[in-house]
Amino acid sequence: MNIQNYIGGALINPKGELFLDNYNPATGKVYSYIPDSTEEDINNAFKAAKNAFPTWSKTTKEERFKVMMRIADLIEERHDELALAESTDNGKPVKLASHVDIPRAASNIRFFATAILHYASESHDMDGAAINYTLRKPIGVVGCISPWNLPLYLFTWKIAPALAAGNTVIAKPSEVTPMTAYLFSKICIEAGLPEGVLNIVHGLGANVGAAITAHEGIKAISFTGGTETGKTIAKVAAPMFKKLSLELGGKNPNIIFADCDFEQALRTSVMSSFANQGQICLCGSRIFVERPIYEKFKTAFVAKVSRLKVGDPNDPTSNLGALVSKEHLEKVKGYIALAQEEGGTILTGGNQVYLDGALADGNYLEPTVIEGLSYNCRTNQEEIFGPVVTIMPFDTEEEVTDFANSTEYGLAATVWTQDISKGNRMAANLQSGIVWVNCWLLRDLRTPFGGVKNSGVGREGGFNALNFFTEPTNVCIKV
Ligand code: NAD
Repeated sequence: MNIQNYIGGALINPKGELFLDNYNPATGKVYSYIPDSTEEDINNAFKAAKNAFPTWSKTTKEERFKVMMRIADLIEERHDELALAESTDNGKPVKLASHVDIPRAASNIRFFATAILHYASESHDMDGAAINYTLRKPIGVVGCISPWNLPLYLFTWKIAPALAAGNTVIAKPSEVTPMTAYLFSKICIEAGLPEGVLNIVHGLGANVGAAITAHEGIKAISFTGGTETGKTIAKVAAPMFKKLSLELGGKNPNIIFADCDFEQALRTSVMSSFANQGQICLCGSRIFVERPIYEKFKTAFVAKVSRLKVGDPNDPTSNLGALVSKEHLEKVKGYIALAQEEGGTILTGGNQVYLDGALADGNYLEPTVIEGLSYNCRTNQEEIFGPVVTIMPFDTEEEVTDFANSTEYGLAATVWTQDISKGNRMAANLQSGIVWVNCWLLRDLRTPFGGVKNSGVGREGGFNALNFFTEPTNVCIKV
Protein backbone atom coordinates (compact mmCIF):
# COMPACT_ATOMS: atom_id res chain seq x y z
CA MET A 1 0.00 0.00 0.00
CA ASN A 2 1.27 3.47 -0.94
CA ILE A 3 0.79 6.37 1.42
CA GLN A 4 0.16 9.68 -0.38
CA ASN A 5 0.74 13.33 0.28
CA TYR A 6 -2.27 15.56 0.97
CA ILE A 7 -1.78 18.76 -1.03
CA GLY A 8 -4.42 21.25 -2.17
CA GLY A 9 -7.19 19.02 -0.85
CA ALA A 10 -6.13 15.96 -2.89
CA LEU A 11 -4.20 12.79 -2.14
CA ILE A 12 -1.28 12.67 -4.57
CA ASN A 13 2.03 10.93 -5.15
CA PRO A 14 5.27 12.85 -4.66
CA LYS A 15 6.43 14.61 -7.84
CA GLY A 16 9.47 12.35 -8.14
CA GLU A 17 7.27 9.20 -7.77
CA LEU A 18 9.79 7.83 -5.26
CA PHE A 19 8.77 5.95 -2.13
CA LEU A 20 10.48 4.76 1.06
CA ASP A 21 9.90 1.52 2.95
CA ASN A 22 7.63 1.74 5.98
CA TYR A 23 8.25 -0.97 8.59
CA ASN A 24 6.00 -2.66 11.11
CA PRO A 25 8.23 -2.67 14.24
CA ALA A 26 6.39 -5.71 15.67
CA THR A 27 7.40 -7.92 12.74
CA GLY A 28 10.41 -6.05 11.35
CA LYS A 29 8.79 -6.28 7.89
CA VAL A 30 7.96 -3.59 5.33
CA TYR A 31 4.19 -3.23 5.16
CA SER A 32 3.64 0.01 3.20
CA TYR A 33 5.47 2.71 1.29
CA ILE A 34 5.81 6.37 2.14
CA PRO A 35 6.35 9.28 -0.28
CA ASP A 36 10.01 10.28 -0.50
CA SER A 37 9.02 13.90 -1.07
CA THR A 38 11.38 16.74 -1.92
CA GLU A 39 11.56 20.51 -1.93
CA GLU A 40 9.39 20.51 -5.08
CA ASP A 41 6.52 18.92 -3.14
CA ILE A 42 6.96 21.48 -0.36
CA ASN A 43 6.82 24.27 -2.94
CA ASN A 44 3.56 22.86 -4.28
CA ALA A 45 2.16 22.55 -0.77
CA PHE A 46 3.19 26.14 -0.12
CA LYS A 47 1.33 27.37 -3.21
CA ALA A 48 -1.80 25.52 -2.07
CA ALA A 49 -1.50 26.85 1.49
CA LYS A 50 -0.83 30.40 0.29
CA ASN A 51 -3.88 30.33 -1.99
CA ALA A 52 -6.06 29.00 0.81
CA PHE A 53 -4.91 31.55 3.40
CA PRO A 54 -6.95 34.65 2.42
CA THR A 55 -10.24 32.74 2.60
CA TRP A 56 -9.42 30.55 5.61
CA SER A 57 -8.11 33.47 7.66
CA LYS A 58 -11.38 35.33 7.00
CA THR A 59 -13.57 32.29 7.66
CA THR A 60 -15.54 32.96 10.83
CA LYS A 61 -14.38 31.32 14.03
CA GLU A 62 -17.73 29.55 14.16
CA GLU A 63 -17.08 27.95 10.74
CA ARG A 64 -13.56 26.90 11.70
CA PHE A 65 -14.98 25.46 14.91
CA LYS A 66 -17.60 23.47 12.99
CA VAL A 67 -15.24 21.83 10.52
CA MET A 68 -12.74 21.01 13.26
CA MET A 69 -15.48 19.43 15.38
CA ARG A 70 -16.44 17.27 12.37
CA ILE A 71 -12.81 16.15 12.13
CA ALA A 72 -12.80 15.25 15.85
CA ASP A 73 -16.06 13.31 15.45
CA LEU A 74 -14.59 11.35 12.54
CA ILE A 75 -11.47 10.51 14.58
CA GLU A 76 -13.77 9.04 17.21
CA GLU A 77 -15.82 7.14 14.62
CA ARG A 78 -12.60 5.63 13.22
CA HIS A 79 -11.14 5.00 16.67
CA ASP A 80 -10.48 1.29 16.24
CA GLU A 81 -8.96 1.63 12.77
CA LEU A 82 -6.70 4.47 13.90
CA ALA A 83 -5.60 2.68 17.09
CA LEU A 84 -4.66 -0.43 15.14
CA ALA A 85 -2.85 1.67 12.52
CA GLU A 86 -0.91 3.55 15.20
CA SER A 87 0.15 0.31 16.83
CA THR A 88 1.16 -1.29 13.52
CA ASP A 89 3.21 1.75 12.54
CA ASN A 90 4.83 2.43 15.91
CA GLY A 91 4.99 -0.91 17.76
CA LYS A 92 3.05 0.35 20.79
CA PRO A 93 0.37 -1.88 22.30
CA VAL A 94 -3.04 -1.40 20.62
CA LYS A 95 -4.44 -1.01 24.14
CA LEU A 96 -2.24 2.05 24.74
CA ALA A 97 -3.11 3.61 21.37
CA SER A 98 -6.81 2.98 22.14
CA HIS A 99 -6.68 4.57 25.58
CA VAL A 100 -4.17 7.36 25.03
CA ASP A 101 -3.12 8.28 21.48
CA ILE A 102 -6.38 8.29 19.56
CA PRO A 103 -8.70 9.77 22.24
CA ARG A 104 -6.12 12.49 22.81
CA ALA A 105 -5.95 13.28 19.07
CA ALA A 106 -9.72 13.90 19.07
CA SER A 107 -9.42 15.95 22.29
CA ASN A 108 -6.65 18.08 20.77
CA ILE A 109 -8.83 19.04 17.82
CA ARG A 110 -11.89 19.64 19.97
CA PHE A 111 -9.94 21.61 22.56
CA PHE A 112 -8.60 24.15 20.03
CA ALA A 113 -11.84 24.23 18.01
CA THR A 114 -13.58 25.47 21.15
CA ALA A 115 -10.64 27.51 22.49
CA ILE A 116 -10.74 29.82 19.47
CA LEU A 117 -14.34 30.72 20.36
CA HIS A 118 -13.14 31.91 23.80
CA TYR A 119 -9.91 33.54 22.72
CA ALA A 120 -9.77 37.24 23.62
CA SER A 121 -7.13 39.93 23.39
CA GLU A 122 -6.09 42.70 25.75
CA SER A 123 -6.89 46.38 25.90
CA HIS A 124 -4.90 49.08 27.70
CA ASP A 125 -6.67 52.28 28.69
CA MET A 126 -4.42 55.41 29.01
CA ASP A 127 -6.54 57.16 31.65
CA GLY A 128 -9.06 58.30 29.09
CA ALA A 129 -6.48 59.94 26.75
CA ALA A 130 -6.25 56.96 24.43
CA ILE A 131 -7.14 53.34 24.26
CA ASN A 132 -4.90 50.54 23.03
CA TYR A 133 -6.15 47.19 21.97
CA THR A 134 -4.28 44.15 20.68
CA LEU A 135 -5.33 42.68 17.38
CA ARG A 136 -4.35 39.02 17.07
CA LYS A 137 -3.86 38.06 13.43
CA PRO A 138 -3.08 34.66 11.94
CA ILE A 139 0.51 34.51 10.68
CA GLY A 140 -0.03 33.00 7.22
CA VAL A 141 1.45 29.69 6.11
CA VAL A 142 3.02 27.87 9.06
CA GLY A 143 5.05 24.64 9.36
CA CYS A 144 4.42 21.84 11.86
CA ILE A 145 7.00 19.04 12.22
CA SER A 146 6.34 16.13 14.57
CA PRO A 147 8.10 12.98 15.88
CA TRP A 148 7.33 9.24 15.91
CA ASN A 149 6.67 8.47 19.56
CA LEU A 150 3.08 9.74 19.83
CA PRO A 151 2.35 10.15 16.13
CA LEU A 152 -1.26 11.35 15.73
CA TYR A 153 -1.36 12.75 19.27
CA LEU A 154 1.51 15.21 18.68
CA PHE A 155 0.63 15.86 15.04
CA THR A 156 -2.86 17.09 16.01
CA TRP A 157 -1.51 18.95 19.05
CA LYS A 158 0.32 21.26 16.64
CA ILE A 159 -1.99 21.60 13.68
CA ALA A 160 -5.18 22.14 15.74
CA PRO A 161 -4.15 25.53 17.24
CA ALA A 162 -2.54 26.58 13.94
CA LEU A 163 -5.77 25.95 12.01
CA ALA A 164 -8.08 27.29 14.72
CA ALA A 165 -6.16 30.58 14.70
CA GLY A 166 -6.76 30.95 10.95
CA ASN A 167 -3.40 29.88 9.55
CA THR A 168 -2.91 27.47 6.70
CA VAL A 169 -0.50 24.65 7.43
CA ILE A 170 2.20 22.50 5.91
CA ALA A 171 2.67 19.56 8.23
CA LYS A 172 5.28 16.84 8.21
CA PRO A 173 4.77 13.71 10.31
CA SER A 174 7.74 11.52 11.15
CA GLU A 175 8.85 9.31 8.28
CA VAL A 176 9.06 6.49 10.83
CA THR A 177 5.31 6.65 11.61
CA PRO A 178 3.41 8.24 8.70
CA MET A 179 0.27 6.09 8.66
CA THR A 180 -2.17 7.85 10.99
CA ALA A 181 -1.34 11.26 9.46
CA TYR A 182 -2.28 9.73 6.09
CA LEU A 183 -5.57 8.40 7.51
CA PHE A 184 -6.08 11.83 9.07
CA SER A 185 -5.79 13.48 5.64
CA LYS A 186 -8.68 11.29 4.45
CA ILE A 187 -10.67 12.37 7.49
CA CYS A 188 -10.03 16.05 6.65
CA ILE A 189 -11.31 15.50 3.11
CA GLU A 190 -14.43 13.77 4.42
CA ALA A 191 -15.02 16.49 7.01
CA GLY A 192 -14.97 19.15 4.29
CA LEU A 193 -11.84 21.02 5.33
CA PRO A 194 -11.36 23.48 2.43
CA GLU A 195 -8.59 22.56 0.02
CA GLY A 196 -5.11 23.83 0.79
CA VAL A 197 -5.90 24.71 4.41
CA LEU A 198 -3.92 21.72 5.66
CA ASN A 199 -1.23 20.09 3.55
CA ILE A 200 0.59 16.97 4.72
CA VAL A 201 3.89 16.19 3.04
CA HIS A 202 5.63 12.91 3.87
CA GLY A 203 9.32 12.14 3.62
CA LEU A 204 12.71 12.39 5.25
CA GLY A 205 13.58 15.08 7.77
CA ALA A 206 16.70 16.09 5.86
CA ASN A 207 14.60 16.70 2.71
CA VAL A 208 11.04 17.62 3.63
CA GLY A 209 11.65 18.97 7.16
CA ALA A 210 14.65 20.98 5.97
CA ALA A 211 12.67 22.38 3.01
CA ILE A 212 9.89 23.55 5.37
CA THR A 213 12.45 25.17 7.67
CA ALA A 214 14.27 26.91 4.82
CA HIS A 215 11.20 28.10 2.89
CA GLU A 216 11.12 31.86 3.09
CA GLY A 217 7.32 32.05 2.84
CA ILE A 218 6.76 29.89 5.93
CA LYS A 219 6.91 32.35 8.80
CA ALA A 220 6.53 30.10 11.84
CA ILE A 221 7.70 26.59 12.67
CA SER A 222 6.35 24.46 15.46
CA PHE A 223 8.70 21.52 15.98
CA THR A 224 8.71 18.55 18.34
CA GLY A 225 11.63 16.15 18.21
CA GLY A 226 15.23 15.67 19.26
CA THR A 227 17.45 18.44 20.63
CA GLU A 228 20.03 18.06 17.85
CA THR A 229 17.34 18.46 15.16
CA GLY A 230 16.01 21.48 17.08
CA LYS A 231 19.47 23.06 16.90
CA THR A 232 19.64 22.50 13.13
CA ILE A 233 16.21 24.05 12.65
CA ALA A 234 17.06 27.04 14.86
CA LYS A 235 20.28 27.68 12.90
CA VAL A 236 18.37 27.90 9.62
CA ALA A 237 15.23 29.64 10.87
CA ALA A 238 16.70 32.25 13.22
CA PRO A 239 18.41 34.42 10.55
CA MET A 240 15.09 34.39 8.64
CA PHE A 241 13.36 35.72 11.80
CA LYS A 242 10.82 32.94 11.85
CA LYS A 243 8.74 32.39 14.94
CA LEU A 244 9.94 29.14 16.52
CA SER A 245 8.41 26.78 19.04
CA LEU A 246 10.79 23.95 19.90
CA GLU A 247 9.72 20.97 22.04
CA LEU A 248 12.86 18.88 22.44
CA GLY A 249 14.42 16.02 24.39
CA GLY A 250 14.40 15.26 28.09
CA LYS A 251 16.15 13.29 30.82
CA ASN A 252 13.50 13.52 33.46
CA PRO A 253 14.04 12.89 37.19
CA ASN A 254 11.54 10.87 39.20
CA ILE A 255 12.19 11.83 42.85
CA ILE A 256 10.83 9.61 45.59
CA PHE A 257 10.97 10.88 49.16
CA ALA A 258 10.69 8.53 52.14
CA ASP A 259 7.40 10.17 53.20
CA CYS A 260 5.63 9.35 49.92
CA ASP A 261 2.54 7.21 49.47
CA PHE A 262 4.69 4.16 48.75
CA GLU A 263 2.19 2.09 46.76
CA GLN A 264 1.12 5.00 44.58
CA ALA A 265 4.71 6.07 43.88
CA LEU A 266 5.62 2.48 43.04
CA ARG A 267 2.68 1.83 40.72
CA THR A 268 3.02 5.13 38.88
CA SER A 269 6.81 4.83 38.58
CA VAL A 270 6.41 1.57 36.67
CA MET A 271 4.20 3.43 34.20
CA SER A 272 6.29 6.59 34.05
CA SER A 273 9.36 4.48 33.34
CA PHE A 274 8.02 2.07 30.73
CA ALA A 275 4.79 3.34 29.14
CA ASN A 276 5.13 3.31 25.34
CA GLN A 277 8.38 1.31 25.82
CA GLY A 278 9.84 4.33 27.64
CA GLN A 279 9.51 6.36 24.44
CA ILE A 280 7.61 9.33 25.87
CA CYS A 281 9.52 12.59 26.23
CA LEU A 282 7.96 12.86 29.72
CA CYS A 283 9.04 9.42 31.00
CA GLY A 284 11.06 9.54 34.21
CA SER A 285 14.32 7.86 33.28
CA ARG A 286 16.36 8.73 36.40
CA ILE A 287 14.77 7.45 39.61
CA PHE A 288 16.14 9.01 42.81
CA VAL A 289 14.97 7.37 46.04
CA GLU A 290 15.57 8.75 49.54
CA ARG A 291 17.95 6.45 51.37
CA PRO A 292 15.66 5.23 54.21
CA ILE A 293 13.33 3.55 51.68
CA TYR A 294 15.87 2.90 48.92
CA GLU A 295 16.21 -0.88 49.40
CA LYS A 296 12.50 -1.40 49.99
CA PHE A 297 11.52 0.63 46.92
CA LYS A 298 14.19 -0.92 44.72
CA THR A 299 13.15 -4.47 45.64
CA ALA A 300 9.45 -3.80 45.06
CA PHE A 301 10.10 -1.88 41.83
CA VAL A 302 12.35 -4.54 40.34
CA ALA A 303 9.82 -7.25 41.28
CA LYS A 304 7.04 -5.37 39.47
CA VAL A 305 9.14 -4.53 36.42
CA SER A 306 10.33 -8.10 35.99
CA ARG A 307 6.68 -9.19 35.78
CA LEU A 308 5.90 -6.82 32.88
CA LYS A 309 5.10 -8.67 29.70
CA VAL A 310 6.92 -7.77 26.49
CA GLY A 311 4.85 -9.14 23.65
CA ASP A 312 2.63 -8.83 20.63
CA PRO A 313 1.22 -5.28 20.52
CA ASN A 314 -2.12 -6.82 19.53
CA ASP A 315 -2.26 -8.90 22.70
CA PRO A 316 -4.17 -6.96 25.38
CA THR A 317 -2.05 -8.60 28.09
CA SER A 318 1.21 -7.13 26.68
CA ASN A 319 2.57 -4.27 28.78
CA LEU A 320 5.31 -3.37 26.32
CA GLY A 321 5.28 -3.77 22.55
CA ALA A 322 8.13 -3.22 20.09
CA LEU A 323 10.59 -0.35 19.93
CA VAL A 324 9.96 1.87 16.95
CA SER A 325 12.83 0.75 14.67
CA LYS A 326 15.89 -1.49 14.42
CA GLU A 327 18.15 1.59 14.55
CA HIS A 328 16.49 2.81 17.71
CA LEU A 329 16.67 -0.64 19.31
CA GLU A 330 20.43 -0.72 18.60
CA LYS A 331 20.85 2.76 20.07
CA VAL A 332 19.06 1.76 23.29
CA LYS A 333 21.06 -1.49 23.53
CA GLY A 334 24.20 0.62 23.11
CA TYR A 335 23.24 2.61 26.20
CA ILE A 336 22.71 -0.59 28.20
CA ALA A 337 26.24 -1.64 27.24
CA LEU A 338 27.57 1.83 28.13
CA ALA A 339 25.87 1.69 31.54
CA GLN A 340 27.72 -1.55 32.29
CA GLU A 341 31.03 -0.06 31.12
CA GLU A 342 30.36 2.86 33.45
CA GLY A 343 30.02 0.45 36.38
CA GLY A 344 26.26 -0.04 36.45
CA THR A 345 24.59 -3.27 37.54
CA ILE A 346 21.50 -4.49 35.72
CA LEU A 347 18.86 -5.36 38.32
CA THR A 348 16.36 -6.65 35.77
CA GLY A 349 16.12 -6.75 31.98
CA GLY A 350 18.99 -5.74 29.72
CA ASN A 351 18.28 -8.21 26.92
CA GLN A 352 16.63 -8.16 23.53
CA VAL A 353 13.50 -10.32 23.44
CA TYR A 354 12.94 -12.75 20.58
CA LEU A 355 9.31 -13.67 20.00
CA ASP A 356 8.02 -16.52 17.83
CA GLY A 357 6.56 -16.80 14.35
CA ALA A 358 5.64 -13.58 12.54
CA LEU A 359 7.10 -11.52 15.39
CA ALA A 360 10.55 -13.13 15.24
CA ASP A 361 12.18 -10.06 13.62
CA GLY A 362 10.41 -7.48 15.82
CA ASN A 363 12.26 -4.91 17.91
CA TYR A 364 11.59 -6.13 21.44
CA LEU A 365 13.60 -5.27 24.54
CA GLU A 366 13.17 -6.15 28.20
CA PRO A 367 12.32 -3.27 30.54
CA THR A 368 15.64 -2.56 32.20
CA VAL A 369 16.58 -1.15 35.61
CA ILE A 370 20.20 -0.19 36.31
CA GLU A 371 21.81 0.55 39.68
CA GLY A 372 25.21 1.76 40.83
CA LEU A 373 25.83 4.69 38.51
CA SER A 374 26.88 8.21 39.44
CA TYR A 375 24.40 10.96 38.68
CA ASN A 376 26.82 12.60 36.24
CA CYS A 377 27.90 9.65 34.07
CA ARG A 378 26.85 9.61 30.41
CA THR A 379 24.06 7.09 31.02
CA ASN A 380 22.54 9.55 33.47
CA GLN A 381 23.11 12.63 31.33
CA GLU A 382 22.11 11.59 27.80
CA GLU A 383 18.60 10.87 26.55
CA ILE A 384 18.09 7.15 25.92
CA PHE A 385 14.38 7.27 25.03
CA GLY A 386 13.72 3.58 25.59
CA PRO A 387 12.70 1.10 28.31
CA VAL A 388 15.77 1.80 30.44
CA VAL A 389 15.87 3.57 33.81
CA THR A 390 18.53 4.07 36.44
CA ILE A 391 17.88 4.02 40.18
CA MET A 392 19.99 5.90 42.76
CA PRO A 393 19.76 6.77 46.46
CA PHE A 394 19.92 10.32 47.84
CA ASP A 395 20.19 11.84 51.32
CA THR A 396 18.86 15.40 51.27
CA GLU A 397 16.51 17.66 49.36
CA GLU A 398 19.45 19.87 48.32
CA GLU A 399 21.45 16.91 47.05
CA VAL A 400 18.65 15.47 44.94
CA THR A 401 17.85 18.91 43.53
CA ASP A 402 21.47 19.14 42.34
CA PHE A 403 21.33 15.62 40.89
CA ALA A 404 18.04 16.36 39.13
CA ASN A 405 19.26 19.69 37.71
CA SER A 406 22.62 18.34 36.54
CA THR A 407 21.63 17.52 32.94
CA GLU A 408 21.39 19.81 29.92
CA TYR A 409 17.66 19.05 29.81
CA GLY A 410 14.69 20.41 31.75
CA LEU A 411 11.41 19.04 30.42
CA ALA A 412 9.50 17.27 33.19
CA ALA A 413 10.10 16.14 36.77
CA THR A 414 8.05 14.06 39.19
CA VAL A 415 8.18 14.43 42.98
CA TRP A 416 6.66 11.98 45.45
CA THR A 417 6.09 13.29 48.98
CA GLN A 418 3.16 13.73 51.35
CA ASP A 419 4.69 16.98 52.64
CA ILE A 420 3.12 19.54 50.35
CA SER A 421 5.54 22.28 51.44
CA LYS A 422 8.41 20.07 50.33
CA GLY A 423 6.59 19.46 47.05
CA ASN A 424 6.25 23.21 46.52
CA ARG A 425 9.90 23.84 47.40
CA MET A 426 11.07 21.16 45.00
CA ALA A 427 8.84 22.53 42.22
CA ALA A 428 10.37 25.98 42.74
CA ASN A 429 13.95 24.68 42.70
CA LEU A 430 13.80 22.13 39.90
CA GLN A 431 14.89 23.38 36.48
CA SER A 432 11.95 21.94 34.62
CA GLY A 433 9.08 23.15 32.46
CA ILE A 434 6.66 20.72 34.10
CA VAL A 435 6.68 19.36 37.67
CA TRP A 436 4.23 16.67 38.71
CA VAL A 437 3.75 16.19 42.46
CA ASN A 438 2.28 12.81 43.40
CA CYS A 439 1.16 12.08 39.84
CA TRP A 440 2.51 11.69 36.33
CA LEU A 441 1.18 12.58 32.87
CA LEU A 442 -1.89 14.21 34.35
CA ARG A 443 -2.60 16.80 31.68
CA ASP A 444 -4.89 19.80 31.55
CA LEU A 445 -4.67 21.03 27.96
CA ARG A 446 -4.94 24.66 29.10
CA THR A 447 -1.61 24.59 30.96
CA PRO A 448 1.77 25.72 29.53
CA PHE A 449 3.62 22.74 28.10
CA GLY A 450 7.32 22.76 27.27
CA GLY A 451 10.84 22.62 28.59
CA VAL A 452 13.68 24.79 29.85
CA LYS A 453 17.40 24.58 28.99
CA ASN A 454 18.01 22.25 26.01
CA SER A 455 14.50 20.80 26.25
CA GLY A 456 13.13 23.63 24.20
CA VAL A 457 11.98 27.16 23.60
CA GLY A 458 8.42 28.39 24.02
CA ARG A 459 5.31 26.78 25.41
CA GLU A 460 2.45 24.89 23.82
CA GLY A 461 -0.97 24.34 25.37
CA GLY A 462 -4.09 26.43 25.72
CA PHE A 463 -3.83 30.10 24.81
CA ASN A 464 -0.01 29.81 24.67
CA ALA A 465 -0.43 27.90 21.43
CA LEU A 466 -2.96 30.38 20.03
CA ASN A 467 -0.57 33.21 20.97
CA PHE A 468 2.24 31.43 19.16
CA PHE A 469 0.17 30.98 16.00
CA THR A 470 -0.95 34.65 15.89
CA GLU A 471 0.87 37.97 15.52
CA PRO A 472 -0.18 40.74 17.90
CA THR A 473 -0.66 44.26 16.56
CA ASN A 474 -1.18 47.03 19.09
CA VAL A 475 -3.72 49.61 17.91
CA CYS A 476 -3.58 52.94 19.78
CA ILE A 477 -6.59 55.27 19.33
CA LYS A 478 -6.52 58.79 20.72
CA VAL A 479 -9.79 59.61 22.37
P1 NAD B 1 13.80 13.76 15.34
O1 NAD B 1 14.34 15.07 15.77
O2 NAD B 1 14.72 12.78 14.71
O3 NAD B 1 12.61 13.96 14.28
C1 NAD B 1 11.49 14.75 14.56
C2 NAD B 1 10.92 15.27 13.25
O4 NAD B 1 11.86 16.17 12.67
C3 NAD B 1 10.65 14.18 12.22
O5 NAD B 1 9.48 14.49 11.51
C4 NAD B 1 11.87 14.30 11.32
O6 NAD B 1 11.65 13.84 10.02
C5 NAD B 1 12.11 15.80 11.33
N1 NAD B 1 13.47 16.20 10.98
C6 NAD B 1 14.62 15.47 11.06
N2 NAD B 1 15.66 16.18 10.62
C7 NAD B 1 15.18 17.40 10.26
C8 NAD B 1 15.78 18.58 9.74
N3 NAD B 1 17.08 18.67 9.47
N4 NAD B 1 14.99 19.65 9.52
C9 NAD B 1 13.67 19.62 9.80
N5 NAD B 1 13.05 18.51 10.26
C10 NAD B 1 13.79 17.42 10.50
O7 NAD B 1 13.08 13.15 16.60
P2 NAD B 1 12.40 11.72 16.74
O8 NAD B 1 13.47 10.69 16.82
O9 NAD B 1 11.32 11.58 15.73
O10 NAD B 1 11.67 11.85 18.16
C11 NAD B 1 12.28 11.58 19.36
C12 NAD B 1 12.71 12.86 20.05
O11 NAD B 1 11.61 13.73 20.20
C13 NAD B 1 13.22 12.63 21.46
O12 NAD B 1 14.37 13.42 21.66
C14 NAD B 1 12.09 13.12 22.34
O13 NAD B 1 12.47 13.55 23.62
C15 NAD B 1 11.56 14.24 21.52
N6 NAD B 1 10.19 14.55 21.90
C16 NAD B 1 9.95 15.72 22.59
C17 NAD B 1 8.66 16.04 23.00
C18 NAD B 1 8.37 17.31 23.75
O14 NAD B 1 7.20 17.65 23.87
N7 NAD B 1 9.35 18.02 24.24
C19 NAD B 1 7.61 15.16 22.68
C20 NAD B 1 7.90 13.99 21.98
C21 NAD B 1 9.18 13.69 21.60
